[in-house]
Parts: sequence; C-alpha cells; structure tokens
Amino acid sequence: PGTGGNDLFKSLNPAQSRAVSSRAPTVAILAGPGSGKTHTLTSRVVWLIDHVGIRPCDVIVATFTVKASNEMRMRIGQALGNGREKKIVLGTFHSIARKYLATYGQRIGLDPKFGIADDSDSRAIIKRICKRLDAQIDPAMARGWISKRKAKGTSDEPPNKTKKENGIESKALAQCYQEYQAYLERSNLLDYDDLLTRCVELLRKCPDCVRNIETVLIDEYQDTNGVQYELMKLFAQQNRRITIVGDPDQSIYGWRSAEIRNLHRLLADFPGTDEISLEENYRSSSSILDASLKVIQQDEERYKKALLPIHAKGTRPVLRMLKSSTTEADWIVSEIKRIKLMSGHMVNSNDIAILLRSASLSRHIESALGREGIAYRMVGGFKFYERAEIKTILDYLRVIYQPDNNDALARIMNVPKRGIGDVTARALLEEAERNSMSLWELLIKHCRGERAAKTTIRKQAEQKISGSLIKLVTNLQSQLRPSEGTPVNLVEIINLLLKDLQFEKHLEETYGPEYELRWANVQEFVNLVTEFVHQDKPEEEMLPVLEDTQQTSDDNVLARFLANVALASDKQTDDDGKDGKPQVTVSTIHAAKGLEWPVVFIPAVYKGSIPHMRSDDDKEERRLLYVAMTRAQALLYLSCPLYSSGGSKEALQASPFIENLPSSTFLRKGPSLDRPVMSEIARILSRSLPSEAHIYEGIPMMAAVEDNLFPVDPSQAQEPSSVVNTRGYAQRPEQHKRQKI
Ligand code: ATP
Ligand code: MG
Repeated sequence: PGTGGNDLFKSLNPAQSRAVSSRAPTVAILAGPGSGKTHTLTSRVVWLIDHVGIRPCDVIVATFTVKASNEMRMRIGQALGNGREKKIVLGTFHSIARKYLATYGQRIGLDPKFGIADDSDSRAIIKRICKRLDAQIDPAMARGWISKRKAKGTSDEPPNKTKKENGIESKALAQCYQEYQAYLERSNLLDYDDLLTRCVELLRKCPDCVRNIETVLIDEYQDTNGVQYELMKLFAQQNRRITIVGDPDQSIYGWRSAEIRNLHRLLADFPGTDEISLEENYRSSSSILDASLKVIQQDEERYKKALLPIHAKGTRPVLRMLKSSTTEADWIVSEIKRIKLMSGHMVNSNDIAILLRSASLSRHIESALGREGIAYRMVGGFKFYERAEIKTILDYLRVIYQPDNNDALARIMNVPKRGIGDVTARALLEEAERNSMSLWELLIKHCRGERAAKTTIRKQAEQKISGSLIKLVTNLQSQLRPSEGTPVNLVEIINLLLKDLQFEKHLEETYGPEYELRWANVQEFVNLVTEFVHQDKPEEEMLPVLEDTQQTSDDNVLARFLANVALASDKQTDDDGKDGKPQVTVSTIHAAKGLEWPVVFIPAVYKGSIPHMRSDDDKEERRLLYVAMTRAQALLYLSCPLYSSGGSKEALQASPFIENLPSSTFLRKGPSLDRPVMSEIARILSRSLPSEAHIYEGIPMMAAVEDNLFPVDPSQAQEPSSVVNTRGYAQRPEQHKRQKI
C-alpha cells in the first residue's frame, strides 16, 4: 500500500510540496544545506510513482554516495510499500553506468566480463608506465591529467597539448595516456572515468537501452562533472524529464572536474525549467547556521540565496585553541564523555561525528578514542578494502573472476610466499607486457615448460606457481561457474580460498602477534560477503530485456560483488556497527556530504589543513568548511592546535576562514550543557519542530500544507498567515525578515 498523496505532503512545507508535485518537465531546486532538498527529491520519486503512475523501473535516480543511495531506497521503500522501490534504477552515476554496461555493453563491443580498475589500480598502472617510458613526469600528475581529459568527455582521442604544459611534457603525458588506455583495454578493465564515458558511448549509439526511462532525478547536482552531465541528458533522452537538486555553495569536487557551470548549462539546455528555492533550514540551531553562513558569505561572488533557521538559537558553536594535536584529541574525547554524561546518555555515540579535512589527521583522534574505549567507525578515505590482508583476498577474487588482471595477479603471485621476489615479479610483468600477453598466460606458458630461452623464473618457484596458484584459481573458477551442477556459494569459495592458502598461518608468519587483528578483519570481510550474498537479488533490479540478443544478464555474483567493492567509498555495514553498539563517526568532510549529526567536531581548523596546503582553490576549501559546519544540528565544535605535532613543533595559524569572524560568533570554551541546552538537543533528537515559543526569526511551516499544494488565487490569500508572491504561491508573512544572504 502506498502512502496516499496526503500523507506524503504532511512532512513538506509549501515550497517543498510544490517541488514534489511540479508538472514541469524539468525541475531545478537550488537551496542551502538542511533545507530538505534530499527529502524533497525522495518525496518526488514517491509522488511520481504513486500519484503519476510511473513504473519504478522507468525511473533513474542518481545520488552521490553508495550510502546515500541505500538510505534513499530505504526511505522510498517505506513510503511506497510492496517492495516496489527495488525496481528503481537508483545508485551513484558510476554504479548505474556499470549496470548499463554489464547488461548492454556488448553492443559497443565491450566484453561483458569487464573488471573495474579502482583508484589504486590506476595509480599503480600509471606509475609503471611512467617508469617504463622513462618519462620525467609525476605519476600522480599524469593520472589527474588523464582523468581530467576523460571527464571532459574527450577520451576517444588523446588530447593535444594545453597552454600550461610544455611540448616535451605534453608529449609524454599523451603517450602515457595512450599506453594506459591500451593496457586497460587489453586487460578488459574500465577505470572510473571509463565507466562513465563508455556508458555515454552506449547510450548515444543505442538509445533504445533507455527508451523506457520516463524521468531522471539527481541529488547533489553541484558536484556533477561534464561526463555526468552528458550522461544525465542521455538517460533522459526519451522525454527530457529531469529533476535536479543541489547547492552551489556545497560544490567540493572541483578537483574531480565537477563543474558549477553545469547549472547554467542545464538552464540553457532545458528552457522552461521550473526553478524552486527552499529557504528554511530544518537541520541546525540558528547560531550554528549563523556561524556557517558567516563563513560562506566571505565569498562575494557566490550565487546568493536565502536560508533562514527554523530552530531556536541554541548553543553558540565552540572555537577552541589547544596546545597540540594530542591535547586537541584529548579535549574532544573529554567533551564527548561530558556530553553523554550531562545528557543522561540521551546523546549516544551514534549522534556524534568528528569530521576531518584529510584522512591523515585521524591518528591522534583514533588513539584518544581507543584509549577511552569509545567505539568509532571510520568513513571515507580510510579504506577497509585497502588493508593489506583484505586487498590480498580481493586480489585473489579478482584473478578468479578475471585471470587477465595482471596487477592483481602480480600482487598475489608471492602471497603467501612462493619464492618469487619483487625483481622476478617485475621482470615477469614486463615480459608479459613486452609480448602483449597477460601475466596469467605467461605463467601458464612457463609452467607448461614452454620457456623462453632467457628465463626469468626459477624452477622451484615455477612448480609452486603451477602446483598451487594456477591450480587453486582454476579450481575455484570451476566451482563458482560449473559447466554443470549448482555453483558453490561465494562465501564458501572464500572459505575454501582461505583454507587452501592457510591464510591465518600466513598472517601470523608475516605480522607476528599483530596478526590477530588482521585475522579479525578477514572474518569481518567474510561477514560482509555473507551479507552481500544474502541481500543480492539481481533479478529484482534487472534492466529491461530488449528485443535484441546482444545483452547479458549481469548474473555473476562475483562480478557484482567486486563492482560493489570498487564503487563503494567504504565498507558498507549496518550503521550500528558490531553488536548494535553505538559508534562515533570519524569521517572525511567529503564523505559527510548530505549527512547530519546532533553533535559535530571539526578538529585541525588551521591554515595548511583547511585550506589544505595542496589545494590551490581557496574558495573550494571554504565551501568544504561550510559543508562540515552545516552537518551539525545542535552542538558544533571547531578546534585548532597551536603547534604542529612531530619533531618540528611549528606554530600553526588558525584557518583564515574563521579568523576574521566577529568574536561573538563562537564560544571559547565548552558550553555549559545545562537543562535548557539539553532540552533543545532532546527536541532535535526527537525530530520535532520547535513550538512557536522557540522560534527565532523563523516560522513553523507545517500549518496548512495541503492548502498550499497548488497555486492559490492572490485575491483569496489570507493575511497575515500567507502572502502571495509574483509567482502566485503562498509564502511566509513579511514581518519575518527575509534577507538575501
Ligand atoms: P544537504 O544540502 O546537506 O544535503 P538537504 O537540503 O538535502 O541538505 P535534507 O537532508 O533533505 O536537507 O533535510 C535536512 C533535515 O531536515 C532532515 O533531517 C530532514 O528530515 C529535515 N526536514 C526537511 N524538510 C522538512 C520539513 N518540511 N519538516 C520537517 N523536517 C524537515
Ligand atoms: Mg541532501
């Protein structure tokens, strides 16, 4: 049973309701943080399906992170009922593109068994190529350069030199690009950029793949790049119905080629777009919002829009200077303990986040939390899947799936030890590349005794490779995809693998006493796979079958699992962590986008950290701080150590973004956390809106929502509860200051 139209609109204010039920083909909602953009987008999906009658499988929704798409699917599911949300094509741009390519990719000559080269693969491959070409270029720079070219949608032809690069450099870069691309093609790998560009190619050549799509909706639109824009248009090519929500002030992916320009492009490409703004902030206390706005308003060229608090003033944010990163971390942990205690444990660890500009800052925080026995989870940038022991298992799985994946194979050739040193491994890899064959083929050839005159591999190692590695991989392959009989479950495959490798013993021999922790990670990994296999229901999420034989059924559980790993920014577990125990979130700011917590700490707000010394875009860094601050609902803490840690003990300077704010913006020490403060926090935790008495420069928006669903006749507008603007929609009374900010 669906929600029925009215229930849906109960949680929406008039502007949100209008956005949800707009009949315009293109709808653009540009509004500040916490104004309910995501909430509105989710509600619109429900409305389109339940009210307009669009089939779930004909709707595409793109979100920015895997976590956000899971959350959105769950919300939509609650509203729709009947499990209909499963059919919606919902995910990140990358995961949607992968799905289209896995299903219809053959039409553009793509082998459906492609693998995904993740960031660290790409880095390793480019590094090797740079070395082989003896090019005097920085691999990281080359990678960025290549990615930028691809993101701009020009991946078909290696680009010519741009202004900045000199002749030699651009020639080397172009060659590196060419070789990199050739390598990926040979190994049947797509990198992140390829997923998007190849999908663009597919949808251009075969529009029938998306002929069914009725409407496309996009969250966090400000962070789409050129190719994603192209992809959005292609998804919607059947009838050009698009809804986007975004906030230019929160654009924080310029370094990944996101283009604010895409906003103007949309308005130019889709004339008659219904532009809707949402102007109430439902998330933060008004003093948190005030401090955040003071930060972003320092950017004078920004696209200005109104954002008014719904909530009471609350407690002013805290700005605290501390001696060192260690004392800073200790102070944060002691505040966490105090908040929990003073709130009678109404506030628990799940309500608290520590947001960091870069993953490398986490060391002191982690050890302080650990010392006090406070459970925490790491999000974004601290990758579970990149831990050595997990990466090894993943590499085995990748080789089982795709033996031609040279890099994965090279990494596991000697793990556990098989007598192949680094030098031999590199020599083999180069030999394979020289002969344009895969490392797998080369190893098989060696082991069959078809050795080249000048052999790179010792007899003993050779026996180990053929006796254990090749045999193991082929055996597991045939169990996973038997020519007859039922395939063995993926979890079982992994258990067989661990057993055959004597993995626990291998960890003990490699890491000594520390191995237990690593083995616990391996078990955690097995749990994750179990959960994945359990939840994996490909038949429910299948793309439509077209009248054409050239499509595959995306029926390989291992393929889907590996793609899931490559495209997830983090390990995906249920939010309550182990045994449902609450955990403090330690996250990068980038990964915290779109989320909210009652209590937020932002440590290391100093020059060099934010703005980051490696960033040359101060405005983007300022937006990043703004994103971080606007995650907080009730308590916000900024802090800054006076001296750097480590040997040098350099004096640090507070971030210029907070330096010149009026001193009344912040408290200089922890807030009192007395009864009124705690009851305000309790209200926020219970998600209720303020009663009239609490309201500060805002008005309650819940009244008379239904009446305002559709344009009202100006003559019937009632003063003073609603006035009518030029567009004919009910608005809030004038006496509540409406300032442009
Ligand atoms: P961001 O820019 O950070 O992504 P957003 O604009 O997407 O923010 P949401 O996350 O959708 O904002 O909403 C922020 C909070 O406000 C959520 O807790 C949401 O449930 C709540 N909210 C949104 N609209 C309303 C409303 N009309 N009434 C009550 N609460 C609301
Ligand atoms: Mg949002």
